[in-house]
Amino acid sequence: MENEEIAQRITVTGVVQGVGFRPMVARLADLYGIRGWVLNNSVGVEIHAEGTKTQVADFVHEIAQANLPMLRLDNIQVTHVATGHWDDFRILASKHNHQGIVPLPVDLSVCESCVEELRQPGNRRYGYPYINCTDCGPRFSLIVAMPFDRPTTTMSAWPLCAACQAEYEDPQDRRYHAETICCPVCGPSYALHAEGRCLAQGPRSIEVVGRWLKDGKIVAIKGIGGFHLACDAENHAAVADLRERKFRKERPFAVMARDIETAREYAHLTDAHEALLESSARPIVLAPARRALPGVNPECRRLGIMLPYAPLHHLLFDHAPPLLVLTSGNRSNEPIAYQDEDAFDRLGGIADAFLMGQRPIARRVDDSLVAVRHGRPMMLRRSRGFAPQRVLRLPTADPILALGGELKCAVTLLVDGQAFVSQHLGDLDEDRTRQAFHETVKDLLTIHRLDSTEVTLVHDLHPQYYSTRFAASFGGKGRVAVQHHHAHVASVLAEHGIFEDQVVGVALDGTGYGSDGTVWGGEIFVGGLQKGFKRAASLRPAKLLGGDAAASFPVQAAAGYLAELNGIPDLTRTPFRFPVRALQMLEMAKHDLHCFVTTSAGRLFDAAAALLGFVRPMTYEGQAAMWLENLAMESAPQEPYPMDNLDWAPMLSRIISERLEGRAIAEIAYAFHAGLAQELARSALLHCRQMSSKIIAISGGAFQNELLTDLFSLEIERQWSGDFPRPRVISNEQVPVNDGGLSLGQAALAEFQR
Ligand code: ZN
Ligand code: ZN
Ligand code: FE
Repeated sequence: MENEEIAQRITVTGVVQGVGFRPMVARLADLYGIRGWVLNNSVGVEIHAEGTKTQVADFVHEIAQANLPMLRLDNIQVTHVATGHWDDFRILASKHNHQGIVPLPVDLSVCESCVEELRQPGNRRYGYPYINCTDCGPRFSLIVAMPFDRPTTTMSAWPLCAACQAEYEDPQDRRYHAETICCPVCGPSYALHAEGRCLAQGPRSIEVVGRWLKDGKIVAIKGIGGFHLACDAENHAAVADLRERKFRKERPFAVMARDIETAREYAHLTDAHEALLESSARPIVLAPARRALPGVNPECRRLGIMLPYAPLHHLLFDHAPPLLVLTSGNRSNEPIAYQDEDAFDRLGGIADAFLMGQRPIARRVDDSLVAVRHGRPMMLRRSRGFAPQRVLRLPTADPILALGGELKCAVTLLVDGQAFVSQHLGDLDEDRTRQAFHETVKDLLTIHRLDSTEVTLVHDLHPQYYSTRFAASFGGKGRVAVQHHHAHVASVLAEHGIFEDQVVGVALDGTGYGSDGTVWGGEIFVGGLQKGFKRAASLRPAKLLGGDAAASFPVQAAAGYLAELNGIPDLTRTPFRFPVRALQMLEMAKHDLHCFVTTSAGRLFDAAAALLGFVRPMTYEGQAAMWLENLAMESAPQEPYPMDNLDWAPMLSRIISERLEGRAIAEIAYAFHAGLAQELARSALLHCRQMSSKIIAISGGAFQNELLTDLFSLEIERQWSGDFPRPRVISNEQVPVNDGGLSLGQAALAEFQR
């Protein structure tokens, strides 16, 4: 009977909380004449639907087709239940039930409808910096616990006023059951603090800050996942001041442009760049710079640019200059400040004033950084708008917590068949970052209701890494160590869901503890997730003078390579102009004093950079290699330098002789990139043929180098002989190729090998 009254219980899992799903279900119920209820629980969303057979069937069908920007449906289960004789459809209070995993929703930028209201004189929320709705606003950064409800967010301190309550309860309103809504009457506000007192409140504080930025002041601004430091990007003196106060010498600053038109004036944007800039994640997008901004991105061809994502940013640009430096609120390498007291404390010596918002931030979430490669996004720092989104599904049994490496740390929790990668945490050689690391581990476990004794910990093989020592003291269910570069390659395979195939892996980076105790970083592996990896080849080992200290001084790195070459000219003279102490370093390296052994690609880049003129110490990690890439990009394509079975000696000898002959350094830099790419491709293809492998997985920080990556892929095409299947080159997309992606690879390898 079509008209027979039935009742069904519908359980929906996936990313279903904090994405406007319940209000949508309620509207559908209204549309199809369904009675019953919907609620968030600890597994996802549960729906009780009563109506005729046809009505319920149509309703369930619509839910399965549901399409909301951030909604991800994993599974819908429908069971018949007894009718409860409901006479309407309601959104009920959330229910905590048995153990289950609901993915946390990510922070969303303010939507267009809300921006419109923000601009509408007479609107209740005209000029209100905390405007949001069912479709937009922060989530991850303000959630205290799940299920996602107002009392479990940092908005719990602000009860709704009558007007907001009416919107919240009206199924026709676009704020129906929006958990974080508020207005100037009932919600938090912003205020300007300087010289220890409050100088302005509400809209006026934003206006004054805008004007101060125009006047060249530096202001700390509380945002979504932490504090920013802001100044006028075109004001050279202000930018120089900011660098000095922040102890950040040369590392590029990110900027925020008032709108997409302004962004286009400063950067060459393709459709892919613009799509990313305007996406709801609103990351910093790395794009070719259109004009020089002295002090903002020194010696860089690219500019990290973003668009306003919080309502506050939109309001600020009514008064502020059209392009602002908006860099994380911290001193040099510390993690970004996100709590008020801490911000006053740490940023007091940097900022002239503070624009303080009252809504607390539950957890630190930096801006994400994304590049574009061949029209596709490539993650460089995964944080706001992306974390803690599930990266992949794996057939897991028990929970695994992978701790990553030492630099650019992020941790991965593998639970209930899903891998969640945390937000970017930073370098664990810093005390405050260690604190952040502790907080995040605890946070991830708490929010997923896991006890530390239930999780297996995975860490790097390096005995001295902070994360390794942490694992030893943590007391989990067990411990697994994974080699650094194995984890890099594994992260690519995990992301692409390649669980069984045997592949050839190429891992290039600055440093990682090798299985033989030496420093690795230029490795070719064969293997896969299930059987693990075998080192098949590597760059010729060089001497590493002073160990990790060599990583910040290209001349010191160069000494370890040059010590193995014959007939080196006096490098302190033109054109090389090495500092005099380089000669001492060379002597030490020749006599094996304070030397380690390394196959690091990063150090090889440093050595080449030193020979081409980068003879000062670096002021941030990877600077010399980036400088070398930027230099090479200025050149037309050049013949690759020769390498002999991954031996760099012939290449470095050529660099020295051609520099003496006066060849343009940009050309030399290009020939170096091409030579390395050609030789790595030769070796990778050789192993593909031997293993009859169809996949080459490349990862490691050195593959942030776009020129090297492109040349490598081209060489694979060019050198492929055609008598075996043409291998496909794959790399990371969702997690960074740098150490930010390490924990995902660690988790995957540990999962398959236990
Ligand atoms: Zn909105
Ligand atoms: Zn209100
Ligand atoms: Fe690495």
